[in-house]
Amino acid sequence: MSTKISFMKETLEQMERDYLIWEEFVLEGPSETWTIVNGKRVLVMCSNNYLGLANHPRLKKAAIEAIEKYGAGSGSVRPIAGTMKIHLELEQEMAKYKRKEASITFQSGFAANMGSIPQLVDQGDLIISDELNHGSIIDGIRLSRAEKRIYGHRDVSSLEKILATEAKKFRRILVVTDGVFSMDGDIAPLPEIVKLCDEYNALLYVDDAHGDGVLGENGRGIANHFHLEDKVDIEMGTFSKAFGCVGGYIVGSKLLCDYLRNKVRPYLLTGSQPPPVAAACLEAIKIVQEDSSLFTKLWDNTRYFKKSLQQMGFDIGQSQTPITPIIIGENKTTKEFSKMLFKEGVFGVPIYYPMVPKGKARIRTIVTAVHTKEDLDFALNTFEKVGKALKVI
Ligand code: PMP
Repeated sequence: MSTKISFMKETLEQMERDYLIWEEFVLEGPSETWTIVNGKRVLVMCSNNYLGLANHPRLKKAAIEAIEKYGAGSGSVRPIAGTMKIHLELEQEMAKYKRKEASITFQSGFAANMGSIPQLVDQGDLIISDELNHGSIIDGIRLSRAEKRIYGHRDVSSLEKILATEAKKFRRILVVTDGVFSMDGDIAPLPEIVKLCDEYNALLYVDDAHGDGVLGENGRGIANHFHLEDKVDIEMGTFSKAFGCVGGYIVGSKLLCDYLRNKVRPYLLTGSQPPPVAAACLEAIKIVQEDSSLFTKLWDNTRYFKKSLQQMGFDIGQSQTPITPIIIGENKTTKEFSKMLFKEGVFGVPIYYPMVPKGKARIRTIVTAVHTKEDLDFALNTFEKVGKALKVI
């Protein structure tokens, strides 16, 4: 091994000692409730496929038809030769679904956040961010030349204090929050945040990666859930979770989307979404507008699962959504918990630093609209058995 890369070996060895190495699990079939993972048929309790759309026949058909019509790839970045009619159809349908003037799509939600935030604020501006915001927001902030302040998680008084002391010193202020927090499943106090943004004339950016397709009327997200659609300046989301595909988007005014189209570097400089992906995303948006039974089922399952875990004595934090963390604490025990679940036929990966703070390791469970009651009971019985064996409950 070249000495130039020996630092990698040392780092990985230290991570191994700290139980921080990510073991990748391999799915040998589609992302479905039951699937083959590492050669074993297991019940999936950790995917973001909230509505079961990832392997939906209509999405697959749309993708295949788009391949036939447009080919496998777009051949370019959006502003050169990579904008196809299917991209525009997707953006129009997304804007219609979200009842906004316009939308813009990106290759991923990560690219949307990392690329857009630095274009909204610059030197002389201030970003104020919730301490548990997603890593793509953190990286977007790091790429910006604006100053940053972090407020306590969902802590409106901490946000207010920063605004009161800092607002006057800066030209423009951007407040950023996840809508649904990805590792805890709790929801941003949007009405209070909106009120403060109004009072201090701050722009509001909401990452609704886990709220879209989950909260609000037919999954229209957190802004719709709180009837505050007109108050969120920049509403960002992803196609990689409830919508079953991959890609990111922002919805808002036409002015905002025109601005981002001309400024965001991952939009300008990365190849655009392959046509089958854009077509499958479009089909997903059509399905959620037609079928509200998916949401009834998702929330019935969520309530049932959460209540049962709580009754068993698990620490599930403050979750209010289908993301339910089972907080264990130690990386080692959490990894052991996951291994034992797997042996019993339940797939629930351990989540630890840097995805969650040190000492807050957990199994993050996510129920979907397509889990049956029998599936949930099987998962619950297994969690109880493993929880007792490891003295977590
Ligand atoms: N924001 C949040 C809150 C997320 O959970 C994620 C996905 N982990 C992203 C952004 C990034 O989305 P994508 O998978 O589309 O890159």
